[in-house]
Amino acid sequence: MSPFLQVSGLTRRFGGLVAVNDLSFSVAKGEIVGLLGPNGSGKTTVLNMISGHLPPSDGQIALADTRLSGLGPHKIARQGVARTFQLVRALPSLSVTENVIVALAFGRKRLWGEAARLEALKRLEQVGLAHRAGQQAGDLTYIDQKRMELARALAADPQLLLLDEWLAGLNPTELQTGIELIRGLKSSGITILMVEHVMEAIRALCGRCVIMNAGIKIADAPTAEALSDPAVVTAYLGE
Ligand code: ADP
Repeated sequence: MSPFLQVSGLTRRFGGLVAVNDLSFSVAKGEIVGLLGPNGSGKTTVLNMISGHLPPSDGQIALADTRLSGLGPHKIARQGVARTFQLVRALPSLSVTENVIVALAFGRKRLWGEAARLEALKRLEQVGLAHRAGQQAGDLTYIDQKRMELARALAADPQLLLLDEWLAGLNPTELQTGIELIRGLKSSGITILMVEHVMEAIRALCGRCVIMNAGIKIADAPTAEALSDPAVVTAYLGE
């Protein structure tokens, strides 16, 4: 499989701390890859570097043949990379639709006016939130905030979607709905790199996992194999 996302020698230092240390991995088009590791292992820092929210100290990131490292978040979004954040970043006094419209302005399509409203509604339908379109974002339940966050990411029309613990905190029924939703995104051709702790979701969705510990990659294999790797078991037990 030829790589779609290619991360090579990626490193990020914070003062004396090497949060991500010479990390290389790739994701093929259409794959869902899990980025796992104990707390503090560097996963969010990796997502932040891919999405351009944090510049790498060293190394390179490329999507298809385009170099992303060195670009800022808006330019990277225009290359087709979108992400969700661990803490939902809603504009609480705006309606759900307006929140998605704001995100549309940063995407690959750049829609305005009625076209933007229709596109936002399409994205809300895609995540099962069309019935809340006119509601104030601040009044949404937790799962619906998560749905809105996903609709905002999808509004950018991504080729690569980065999910940062999008399934965390859902009850068992919501989790199944969330898993189905992500499966649907894969079917629509979106490539996904997901940071996640919910094992049920990882096993259900990720064909492969890249596992980090203390900034270093300790496994990169099909999910069942990666999770049973002795180095991985030790890293999690030592948490
Ligand atoms: P994970 O997502 O795996 O929990 P993070 O990427 O959030 O890990 O953090 C990796 C390490 O980098 C941690 O030790 C964390 O404290 C540190 N770190 C993350 N962001 C910053 C920052 N902005 N400044 C200083 N240290 C940071």
